[in-house]
Amino acid sequence: MKALVLTSPGAFEVQEVAVPKPGPHEVLCRIRGVAICGSDPEIIRGGLAGIWPPFYPFIPGHEWSGEVVEVGDGVLGYKPGDRVAGEAHKGCGYCRNCLQGRYNLCENYGTAATGHRHYGFISQGAYAQYNVYSIRAINHMPASVSFREGALVDTAGVTLHGMELTGITPGGTVVVIGPGPIGLIAVRFAKALGAARVIVVGRGARLDAAAAKGADAVVNFEKVEPVQAVRDLTGGLGVDEVFECSGAPGTFAQAVRMVRKGGKVSLLGVPPDTVREELPFKYIVHNEIAIFGSRANPNVSRKIIEMMGAGLIKVKDLITHTFPLEEFATALDTFVGRKDGVIKVVIEPNGPEA
Ligand SMILES: [Zn+2]
Ligand SMILES: [Zn+2]
Repeated sequence: MKALVLTSPGAFEVQEVAVPKPGPHEVLCRIRGVAICGSDPEIIRGGLAGIWPPFYPFIPGHEWSGEVVEVGDGVLGYKPGDRVAGEAHKGCGYCRNCLQGRYNLCENYGTAATGHRHYGFISQGAYAQYNVYSIRAINHMPASVSFREGALVDTAGVTLHGMELTGITPGGTVVVIGPGPIGLIAVRFAKALGAARVIVVGRGARLDAAAAKGADAVVNFEKVEPVQAVRDLTGGLGVDEVFECSGAPGTFAQAVRMVRKGGKVSLLGVPPDTVREELPFKYIVHNEIAIFGSRANPNVSRKIIEMMGAGLIKVKDLITHTFPLEEFATALDTFVGRKDGVIKVVIEPNGPEA
């Protein structure tokens, strides 16, 4: 099969490699769509070499959909031909966090002998024609959800997990900071879950995209002070929930000041390790501001697939570009360089869906 192989930090090529064999409770999947994640360029560049990936040669990619082609021993509930969407995190299944359904926080992270996997980060990933997955890391997908849409289940899941942590106030007002792919999907999920109004904070072409794709109001932080602007849009009170989707310095403290008394903040964007924030300690205490770190997308894929299938969440228009695996370098360049109005790029290692 063909696969995108990282051969050393910063170097990659499309190579012929052996098709892997599914072990017990695993399936071999034909990858039909895999979206480039904001975390992929750093992994490919080698900025996290030794951690993500822990070794070379390595196949990255984790936001995927496809079809089952072969099942390993003990697999029930999946058969060749089934359409599925994947998840990156597969916990050990028996640590305290896994037992509580928090497999994104598995206490055996990185120890493969426990059964833990993090596909595309420390376990071989989806930028290939085939890969094996635990049946815990796949979810059935109906024919009404295309493979391209299925490749966005992962990204959509990041927003839904953040919203499950805070809840969404029915009829309330939400702020989304950072109109990248996660932020744009967050706008739609906030609405689907009952928010009456969504304000997006950002700048440039992506803020324009937010205005065109569902935001009720936009705040350009290059032109106005964003906390004051959000307060002005809410009669001085602040909003019910803020979803920080940029990971940029300064936005955490802004988010805390944007919510109303008793409001909630969910941090979805991943900042660099070096970012430190100065927070209003007493203000958070006296106003009972709740703050949630939010990592990845546990226990939300099935909900998203059902919502996509029922037309409650649309993502098709956020897929601006598709490429075959052979053109990965161009695809990456388009995504990283934010060229040509790009939002989400989907790679199709086995060609487009008929
Ligand atoms: Zn991702
Ligand atoms: Zn675990």
